[in-house]
Amino acid sequence: AASITLENLGKVYPDGTVAVGDISLEVEAGELVVLIGPSGCGKSTILRMLNRLIEPSKGRILIDGEDVTEQDAVQLRRRIGYVIQNVGLFPHQSIRTNVGTVPRLLGWDKKKIRARSEELLELVGLDPKRYGGRYPHELSGGQRQRVGVARALAADPLVLLMDEPFSAVDPIVRGRLQEEFLSLQAAVRKTIVLVTHDIDEAVRLGDRIAVLGEGGRLLQYASPADLLSDP
Ligand code: ADP
Ligand code: ADP
Repeated sequence: AASITLENLGKVYPDGTVAVGDISLEVEAGELVVLIGPSGCGKSTILRMLNRLIEPSKGRILIDGEDVTEQDAVQLRRRIGYVIQNVGLFPHQSIRTNVGTVPRLLGWDKKKIRARSEELLELVGLDPKRYGGRYPHELSGGQRQRVGVARALAADPLVLLMDEPFSAVDPIVRGRLQEEFLSLQAAVRKTIVLVTHDIDEAVRLGDRIAVLGEGGRLLQYASPADLLSDP
C-alpha cells in the first residue's frame, strides 16, 4: 500500500466550473479515507484526477511521494484499482476472465492469472468453482459488486479508488457488503479513497472522513469519532 498526498489540489473545468477548490490532505498507507459531501462538491473529480483520467488545474497529487503527472498514465492506472457504482463488468466475459483483466494487461502467464482470479473470488466470498465460469448477468447485484472488488484487487494495486461502491444494491445487501468489506480491508490493508454521500457508510467504513462542500472545498478532515463529537 502507498500513501497519497494532495497538495493545494484544484480543478477548474474549461467552462469555468470550480469543481475542486484548494485541497491539501494526506492519506496514510493502509488507511481508508472517505470523501463525503453533497452532489457536485467535486468527489468524482478528485477520483478522476487520482486515476489520471483528467489533470489538475493546480497543485499536485503524490502517490508514495511521487508526482503522478510525472508517471505514465497507462502504467499508473494499472497500479490503481477502481470500483464504480455499477461495477462495469464485461458482459461477454466469464467472472473469472473479468477478474483477470488487469493481470492480463500486465502480461502475467495464464496459469498465474487463473490461480489469482480464483484466489480473489474466494477472498470476496464467491466460490470460484460455482461462479468462476458464469457470466455477469447470471449473478445478483451484490455478487457482481463483489466481483468488481475482486477485479480491482487482482493485480495487488497500490491504491484502491471506490466511487459509491455499495449504493446500487438494496439496503440489506449493502449492510452485509459493508461488513464483508471491512474484514477484507483488515486482511489486505489497502490505501483506499472511497466516495459516498451516505454518512452512515462514511462512519462505518472510514478511518478518516474528508467532508467536502460548495466549490469543492475541504470543510473537515477527521476521524469518525472526532467528527461526531464536534458538531
Ligand atoms: P460529485 O462527484 O461530488 O457529485 P463532480 O466531481 O462530479 O461532483 O462535479 C463537481 C462539479 O464539477 C459539479 O458542479 C459538476 O457539474 C462539475 N463538472 C463535473 N464534470 C464536469 C465537466 N466534465 N465539465 C464541466 N463541469 C463538470
Ligand atoms: P458523478 O458525480 O457520478 O460523476 P454526474 O452526473 O455529476 O455524476 O456526472 C456524470 C458525468 O457527466 C461525469 O462523467 C461528468 O464528468 C459529466 N459532467 C457532470 N457535470 C457536467 C457538466 N456541468 N458539464 C459537463 N459534463 C459534466
